Order: sequence, then structure tokens, then C-alpha cells
Amino acid sequence: MTWKLTKFELDNPNLLINESLLSLGNGYLGVRGNFEEGYQEGYKSIRGAYINAFHDETEITYGEKLYGFPGTQQKILNVIDAQTVQIYLDDELFSLFEGEVLFCERNLHMDKGYAERIVHWISPQGKEVKIHFKRLISFTTKELFAIDIQVEAITPVEQVKFVSTVNGDVSNFVDKEDPRLASGHAKRLHVTEVRQENRFSIVKDTTYVTNLEVACVSSSAVQAENHTYDSKGTDTSIEEIYLCAGTHPIRFTKFNVYTDTLRHGENVVEEAVEILQQLQSKTFENLLDEQKAYLDDYWKVADVAIDGDERVQEGIRFNLYQLLQSVGKDPVSNIAAKGLSGEGYEGHYFWDTEIYIFPVFLMTNPEIAKNLLLHRYSILDSARQRAKEMGHEKGALFPWRTITGSESSAFFPAGTAQYHISADIAYSYIQYYLTTKDEEFVKDYMAEVLFETARLWADAGHMQNGQFRIDSVTGPDEYTCVVNNNYYTNVMAKHNLLWAAKVYELLKQADNDRLQQLASQLELTETEVASWQSAGENMYLPYDETLQINAQDDSFLQKGRWDLKNTPSNKFPLLLNYHPLTLYRYQVLKQADTVLAHFLLEDEQDFETIKNSYDYYEQITTHDSSLSSCVHSIMASKLGYQEKAYDYFNETARLDLENTHKNTKDGLHMANMGGTWLGIVYGFAGLRLKESGLSLAPALPVEWNSLEFRLQYQGRLLKVHKNREVTIYTILEGEGLTISHNGQALYLETGKEVEVQ
Ligand code: BGC
Repeated sequence: MTWKLTKFELDNPNLLINESLLSLGNGYLGVRGNFEEGYQEGYKSIRGAYINAFHDETEITYGEKLYGFPGTQQKILNVIDAQTVQIYLDDELFSLFEGEVLFCERNLHMDKGYAERIVHWISPQGKEVKIHFKRLISFTTKELFAIDIQVEAITPVEQVKFVSTVNGDVSNFVDKEDPRLASGHAKRLHVTEVRQENRFSIVKDTTYVTNLEVACVSSSAVQAENHTYDSKGTDTSIEEIYLCAGTHPIRFTKFNVYTDTLRHGENVVEEAVEILQQLQSKTFENLLDEQKAYLDDYWKVADVAIDGDERVQEGIRFNLYQLLQSVGKDPVSNIAAKGLSGEGYEGHYFWDTEIYIFPVFLMTNPEIAKNLLLHRYSILDSARQRAKEMGHEKGALFPWRTITGSESSAFFPAGTAQYHISADIAYSYIQYYLTTKDEEFVKDYMAEVLFETARLWADAGHMQNGQFRIDSVTGPDEYTCVVNNNYYTNVMAKHNLLWAAKVYELLKQADNDRLQQLASQLELTETEVASWQSAGENMYLPYDETLQINAQDDSFLQKGRWDLKNTPSNKFPLLLNYHPLTLYRYQVLKQADTVLAHFLLEDEQDFETIKNSYDYYEQITTHDSSLSSCVHSIMASKLGYQEKAYDYFNETARLDLENTHKNTKDGLHMANMGGTWLGIVYGFAGLRLKESGLSLAPALPVEWNSLEFRLQYQGRLLKVHKNREVTIYTILEGEGLTISHNGQALYLETGKEVEVQ
């Protein structure tokens, strides 16, 4: 049951939402769950296919463009449409909005890697048919999007006609009312090649500004007793027409191969043709087998099994599946805020990656996690340049939102000012090191990233009265902008600075030649490293004596409190109903900020302070951002607020499935999806990864009978099973290990089930 997401709706708001929910992808290519034949006139659809990182640049227009404001913005593009297939039954066009729909079920198979639509339909003229659509985006041939359609006539149909189109005349979706969507620049691609060659339909598009090219080469085939074939081209598209007769079922398949300049170089068409030729010997069934094998490997480690709560089980599997479908697996891509399921946030990569998504892959698929780090490494030069533009002599300031490294955020108070992203990236590098102990990685990448980000903090902050302070930044909470000494930023910067100094020492011991080489490349001296140590040790962390909490920033607690109880529900999310300045004047949070810092760096404060902070900030947090509830769930678990932990977790686990943020149509909320896993593994199971090792403190929500998941840790595969009575740990692969269980050291011998209370 829970391996399959099933949908029946045919009404428009739901079709639009289901386009995101039933989207397919593999980290490179993504296609929304549109109907091959489209909807009826007047129905809204965001018909989309996306290639991770494939983008154009558009100008940002400002009333007043001040120094350092980015002049251009990157934007993921809706690429060539190869989804379209029209079906005619003796000249009657198949449409689910006419005639009689006896049955229509759509499934997303999360264990098998395909989506299907099963239709039983009677046409307006009384022809009864069953049509079975299947589609997949291959995990093993990343360029491939395949469609398979079987038509079975129940009452006589003499001829079935398939009209299959590849269309290069495509645009992006716009909604002027919503700042989370693009406000213009919909058309960014023009068609530069359309032709047919040996029954391959070839369409190539080029972007307006970046001059990137995308090709879609498509081949289709039918299985029918008799058929004729024809094709027609226009300036922008190619249609292939099959007239089929004979006994039923009749079958149509279409293989679409997408290539782009970013991965395939100059000759995108030739590359696509070659890939498609290699696929000619494969059947749709072969592709399904490959999908299954790939997913068997994925789920073997990544699955989280929950007994006693079907809805949550469906939620976590769906989220883990969609994360896999969206995460970039090649050097030019990361994971966009909406993955490859929609155009919200324009395909940009944010801190969402490091803090919410990276940990999932780190502990279930370290190769994918490493790729995310390498992508950040690949934009380190842009980050250095941005730091310069922002007035820093040295260091790297990572862009708040970007695709290939340039800052794409037009609204600096909730964009560039979120300097914390640089510390977040450093944090993820450190977590990677703690989990893999990969020393080569430290030498090749991590040291440089940590040194350059530490430099940013050293330059952005200043020492005053023996304390290191960082002014005019924005923390994670976007309802409080450009403040002095944001607790989250300062504590994360501290971690960044101290670890940079530590890695310097580590490298000195492990490979001094490499260190010297790096130091000379970066013009780094021991005096500078000592200044990081000192800045870190003396970092000012705002604390309020009266409330005994960490203040979110220097001025936060002096502001008036927003009256959340008396704010009408239709005023949420506040960002769509109040000017930012109104929000900045109040104590009101869009999302977890200090509470998140207490999760990421819990040893910085004692339990009481963390508890007081949680109690305080919870009252003024709207969770208008989907990045918030999961953090409150994790922290409620830590603090022993079991009911709250479960309630927040529930909001997280099914956020897209229930469309609770009302914008799932624009794409799925990837950070929140990662947050679901964090809520279970870091929240209920109490996982922490520190220098001291791995610790867990599993507790089961009362609603559940048991919970089981696996973790990869320093070359081992560890299974954790928690039921109402006991926890059972098993090291399935790798050497024995001592972990901390509820604060007590526990040795786990390989292959042995270790049962504890
Ligand atoms: C959140 C940010 C997040 C962005 C993309 C915003 O609404 O406030 O923290 O990075 O969405 O998901």
C-alpha cells in the first residue's frame, strides 16, 4: 500500500497539485505529472520538463540599483515538451473531460520508479476503451524520459490514431501575485533546430542570454497488427502520426532523450542521437526492470519503516522518493528548493541543501552527499568574488540563491544578508568529515572551503570589548532582517572559525606539504589562523538574563510582540499580506532561528536555556516557511514534549501530500521533505553526530508500534529498530562500533543484534 501514491481527482485545483505530486525525475531531468493529451480548455496547468541547472539569465530591474546589487538572475527553464500524445478512436479525440469516465486512477510507484494512469472511458459516441499510460524517467540513463500507452477497445474501434508531438516552443510559468514565483521573463528559449532523421524527431532550443542548448531527440513505435506512419514538422515542433488497426490491445511507446550543453558539450543533438540509438534494443519492460533494481538498492538503505501509522509511512516514503528524484548527481547540479517538480523559486539552490537535505544523503547515500559538497566547491570562486563585491578583503560569501554561483537574490535583506549560508556550507563539510573520516576530502576540498568561509567571518565581524561581533546580517528567520549579532549566525560562524583553525592543525599533522601548498595558494599565515581561533573563542552570543534565553539578535527582544492569536487566519502567510517593514518591527518569526541553532549546535548552551528559548520562540513562530515545523518537532523531541513533537512532525510529513502551504502546485518543498527524515532520525531517534561519535536516544511516538531505519557511518551500515519495549541495533556491514545510547556507551559487534532498553 504505502509504496504507491494513488490519485483519482479530475478537478482543476487538484490536477494542478497532482502535477507536482506525480512528477518524475532523476536529479538531472524532471517532468511534471501532466496528462499526455492535456486538460480541457480553461483548465490551468503548469506543463513542464526541467533539466537541473539548465537556465537562462534575466535582468533584474530595480527602481534604484545600488552598489553590489546583482544585475542578473538565473532561472531554471521549462524545456522542450515531449509529453504530448493525442489518441483518436475512429476520429474521436480521447479526453477525460468529455464522454464518461468509468474509472481513472493514477499511481506513483515509489518502489518501481514509474507513474501510471489507468483509464476506463466511454467516448461521447459510445466507444468504450481501457487505456493504460505508464511513464518513467530513467535512473540509469539519466537523459531518458519514456512513455508507454496501451489501448484496449472494449466495444469495436476500427482505428486508433496516435499523434505524438515534440514541441520546442515552450515558456515558463508566471504568477505576478506571488513573490515565490517568477514575475516575468517567461519565454527564454528559442527553437534552433527541428528535423527528422531516420525516424528520430529532433528539436533543439537555445537560451536567449546564456546560449545554452538543450536537445530532445525522440523516437516512437507502435505494436499493432496494421499501421501506417506519417510525420509533419512546423518551425517549432514535430508530429508523428500512427494509424493503427487490428486486434487489441494496441501499444504505443515513446523514448525521449534530453541532452544539454552543461553536461554534453557542444554537440547536444549528436549526443542525444547516440544515446537514443543505444536504447533501441531496450523495451519499456527492460527499463522498468532497471528502475526496480536501482530503487531496490536505494531503499535497502534509505527506507524508514513505521508500523502503526500508514499516513506517516506514506509521507516519509514519498518524501524520500521525491528527494532522490530531485537531487543532482553530477558536478554541475545541486538540489533546487522545489527539486525538479516545478518552477517555484526558479530552480535555485539555497541553504535548504546543507541544513535540511544533505544530512539525509550523508547518512543514507554518502556519494550523493559528496556531490552536493563538490557542487558548492565548484562555485567557490564565485563566492570569493561575491565576498569582494560585498566589500570583504578576503574570504568566500556563498550566494543566497543561485544555480551556477552568481547571486540571484534581488531582495538583499532576505537574500544576500543571509550570510549564514556560508557557515551552513562549512557545517555540512564538517558533518561529512565526522561521518566519513575522509581525509583525502579534507585535503582536496574541505580545508579550502573552511579557510575561505572563516575568512569571511573574520572580515565581516569585529572585536569590541573582548567580544567578536557580527553586525548587519539576517538569520534564517526572514521576518527579522539586517540585525546585529543574530544568535544563529554568530554561533554557526563560531563553529566555522574554530573548525577552520582545527582543520589547519589537522592538515599540518596529516600532510604538511599539502597544507603549505594551500597556504601559499591562499596567502594564509599562522597569524591569520590564530585570529580565527580568537574570533571563535570570543564570539558574542546574545543572552537575555531576565528570560534566560538566547536573544535572536541584539534588538529582537526589545520589539513589540505580534499578536498572533488575533491575526485572522486568512492573513497567513504574513509575507503575502504585510509589508516587510511591518513584520521587521515585531517579534514574529517566519521560521525556526535560535531554535534551529540549538538543534545544530546543542552543546553551546545548557538544557535549561535551550528549553526556555524553545518555549519563548514557539509562541511567536508562524511556521510560514515550510522549513520550520520539522525543527520544532526535533527540538520538542529533545525537550521531552512528546505530543508537540508528534504534531509538528505530522505537519511536516504530509505537507505536500495535503498541500497545507497551498503552493504545492508550484513544486514540492524539498527542505521540508528532508526535514521529515530529520524529524524521525534526529528527532524521535535522537541521533547526533559529533566529534565524540554517534549517539542515539530512541523514543517512539505513542501512536507507533515500531520504527526501523538504517544509517551509513564511517564505512558501516547500522540498522536501528525501536519498538515499544526495546531498541535493537545491528551492524549489518563494516566493523564493530561503540555508540552512545541514551548517554551510555554501547559496543555493537558486527552482525549481532544488540538489544537495549
Ligand atoms: C525560506 C528560506 C528558504 C527558501 C527556499 C523561504 O521561504 O524562508 O529559508 O531557503 O524559502 O526554500
